[in-house]
Amino acid sequence: MKILVINAGSSSLKYQLIDMKDNSRLAIGICERIGTSGRFKHTTSDGRVYDAQIPMPNHNVAFHQMLDTLLKGEYSVISDISEINAIGHRIVNGGEKFSKSVLVDDQVLKDFGEVINFAPLHNPPAMVCIDACLEMFDSKVPNVLVFETAFHQTMPPKAYLFGVEYKYYEKYKVRRYGAHGTSHRYVGNRCAEIMNKDIKDLKIVTCHIGNGSSLAAIKNGVCIDTSMGFTPLAGVMMGTRSGTIDPSVVTFLMDKENLSPSEMEDMLNKRSGLLGISGISSDSRDLEAAIAKDDAKMAHLALGVMNYQIKSYVGAYVAAMNGIDALVFTAGIGENSDRTRRQVCEDMDYLGIKIDDKVNRSHIRDTELEITAPGARVRTFIIPTNEELMIALDTKRIVESL
Ligand code: ADP
Repeated sequence: MKILVINAGSSSLKYQLIDMKDNSRLAIGICERIGTSGRFKHTTSDGRVYDAQIPMPNHNVAFHQMLDTLLKGEYSVISDISEINAIGHRIVNGGEKFSKSVLVDDQVLKDFGEVINFAPLHNPPAMVCIDACLEMFDSKVPNVLVFETAFHQTMPPKAYLFGVEYKYYEKYKVRRYGAHGTSHRYVGNRCAEIMNKDIKDLKIVTCHIGNGSSLAAIKNGVCIDTSMGFTPLAGVMMGTRSGTIDPSVVTFLMDKENLSPSEMEDMLNKRSGLLGISGISSDSRDLEAAIAKDDAKMAHLALGVMNYQIKSYVGAYVAAMNGIDALVFTAGIGENSDRTRRQVCEDMDYLGIKIDDKVNRSHIRDTELEITAPGARVRTFIIPTNEELMIALDTKRIVESL
């Protein structure tokens, strides 16, 4: 079975064609800067790379660029569209309508239409790709929707409600939805497999720390809390996003700086976080490089704030779960920054968390590694995330159950 995984972003379309025989990737690609300059990069498993500037005015054009490249010419990996047996679509927010991955049918499309505005930049382009698939593929080829919010739908009301008038939850469904659900689910399951335990017997905190970051508390296999909120702006401070702040700061700054709601939103989403504090970069690699040189002060401060916030959430989730068996780091920073892992885990030995500094520093990119210090009660792991594989596995499971 070959599954096409499609991940539509606001101005991008990422895809992978996966052979489920051995979960291997046949091709991976990205259409970037859709609607502006347009860049297309497609890499096959045998190393052929097509990298070109191609204008793609919208997601439909990008979709056809992807499909044509997979099927035809010197970068193709299949010769007929019928070789694609199913399609898995990553969906950023499914609201309360979707608590698990689903097979597309008329009712699902209607329900998705009702929550499309929960992710105004991401859900509409995903819908364009779903429509394009329904048009291009035989009607027997299943489309499956995999929601980033679905894994978090098990949170109890005490974790997902905000302290505002309840009528806003009833009227607008204002609540915590979370994000990165596919990643938290994947690394949580991998963690249990590595520990050779049933995930139902474990309390795990997963830290997805990348350009966007969130943590999840996974107790007995289900998510009981997560740090992202109504939108992916909440939780820990990120590359350019503020994370959770005192809400009065928003109205105070709007007033003082004479900002409109969209200007304020722009500031919180694009000019805050690591970039906002350091004034240097949103990329933690640049900040770590700055620390290694002389102009360290602001880079130090920015990373320190971020790492402290991650640590605070770990503590909160240990309290929420009444304990912890495993701590997992994943995504760009979680997988690659030994500094972040060290700062998050320092002085946590009273909770049973202690990592081995030398092993922590020895990590090789894209590999799984246990970094627990000898004798520590809680096991700490680096587990590279694989959201696309998780989407493909969900799609396969649903297709096989038909
Ligand atoms: P996204 O949320 O866009 O998927 P990623 O998970 O790819 O982001 O993470 C991107 C982040 O990972 C960037 O801030 C980048 O600096 C960071 N990163 C990647 N490699 C390293 C590294 N070796 N050391 C520190 N940070 C790294």
